[in-house]
Amino acid sequence: MNHDTSAEQGFDAADLQALVDTVRRFALERVRPQLDAWEAAGEIPRELYRTAADLGLLGLGYPEHLGGTPAPWRARNALSQTLARHGTSGGLMASLFSLNIGLPPVLAHGSPELQAEVVPPVLRGERIAALGITEPGGGSDVAALRTTARREGDDYVIDGEKVFITSGMRCDWLTLAVRTEVEPPHSAASRVAAPQGGSVALGRPGGDRSANKGASGISMIVMPMDRPGISRSALHKMGWHCSDTAHLRFDGVRVPVRYRLGEEGAGFRMVMGNFNGERLAMSAMALGFAQACYDEAVDWARQRQTFGAALIERQAIRHKLMDMRMRIESTQAWVDAVTARADAGEGAVPPPGRPKAEQPPWGAATHAQQGSVGAHSDWVSHVCLLKNHATQTMQFCADAAVQILGGMGFMRGTASERIYREVKVMMIGGGAEEIMKELAARQSGL
Ligand SMILES: Cc1cc2nc3c(=O)[nH]c(=O)nc-3n(C[C@H](O)[C@H](O)[C@H](O)COP(=O)(O)OP(=O)(O)OC[C@H]3O[C@@H](n4cnc5c(N)ncnc54)[C@H](O)[C@@H]3O)c2cc1C
Repeated sequence: MNHDTSAEQGFDAADLQALVDTVRRFALERVRPQLDAWEAAGEIPRELYRTAADLGLLGLGYPEHLGGTPAPWRARNALSQTLARHGTSGGLMASLFSLNIGLPPVLAHGSPELQAEVVPPVLRGERIAALGITEPGGGSDVAALRTTARREGDDYVIDGEKVFITSGMRCDWLTLAVRTEVEPPHSAASRVAAPQGGSVALGRPGGDRSANKGASGISMIVMPMDRPGISRSALHKMGWHCSDTAHLRFDGVRVPVRYRLGEEGAGFRMVMGNFNGERLAMSAMALGFAQACYDEAVDWARQRQTFGAALIERQAIRHKLMDMRMRIESTQAWVDAVTARADAGEGAVPPPGRPKAEQPPWGAATHAQQGSVGAHSDWVSHVCLLKNHATQTMQFCADAAVQILGGMGFMRGTASERIYREVKVMMIGGGAEEIMKELAARQSGL
């Protein structure tokens, strides 16, 4: 299973190097000079989506017939890692690439007509896609979500709230987890689901599910965000300042049934499959941010003179740098190993009724793999633990870099200061540390 399929997927070493060069130039020329202004403004400019689209960055990993470029995980993670290392902004990446959490379920489970309507304008940078799972009542326990979609003729009528939604203020399409089935209180007590990313496990009491069917009542719907009844409010954050993050309310929003993904009640597993890809991408990002901290700390230590010598001459500083490097190298090796397994097909199996040999639109070289369900459980446990390891590497390196930079590390404008503030969301978003450990344990059969 564990062989490199990148070349088979039309992506050889030269293609990969060209991609890395393009992303580095984009980061250094288009992002870094403007980043402080975007952070202060609380948003990235709309034109940046088109710029990234024109460079092929938004379409990487999407099927050709929808305007994308099929690419293995190896290439997609190289993009994430390189943009994190040289762009040094998680907020920018979260917003610019919110399509990569919003669209995979559409690719894996949407009808061809729905895919043709939603995906191409997003890949061209003309429309923005986002994902809406988390609610004010909780994010880790997806099976407890309360937003409802009630069927009325050819429409669903949607009521509820979502919170912490990346690109929520601007998105044109929201891939939304809703409850399509509600059952009477007396029959719901024993239905419980595993935390984010796990399979359904019955028989243990959980949170307040007195009025719902837990995991089996959840469906996914792509909501066009121009409908009446939607209100959006912006949230203010510790970091990711240039990323828009919203609280959304839905009051009787009507969405045609054709916008549902897959079958009614099949949404929970779609959400879980999607998380695996998000967590792998976040691991590559965290690694890039750790490298950015290392780069900045080495540069500073070379220039800064104390007591008649450069900091880099001091054993205490050199050892701190090597502690950073040790974690970076181990994370790189693990990212590479898990990525190779994803490219070998362990990240997903086809949706029901689709032959395993079938390639795009849902094959391993596209984001449809992320949106599909049934990933290999050992691989899933590795992804969970890798996300924790990579974000801890990022945290360690941000802390060490700020220390090496001294007072300058506390100042706005350094990459290390920004990354120090951004690490917490990497350890919480997309599946918090505690949830990752529990899921890894379950997937390991413990
Ligand atoms: C900036 C930002 C952007 C985000 N973007 C999106 C987005 O685009 N779309 C989206 O749907 N969501 C988004 N999220 C939400 C994110 O995925 C959730 O915050 C995350 O899943 C955790 O959910 P929660 O905040 O409700 O915490 P809770 O689920 O309330 O958990 C709180 C804490 O308790 C721990 N915990 C929970 N249950 C247990 C348990 N059984 N045992 C031990 N510990 C436990 C958790 O690990 C966590 O540390 C975003 C969040 C942030 C901060």
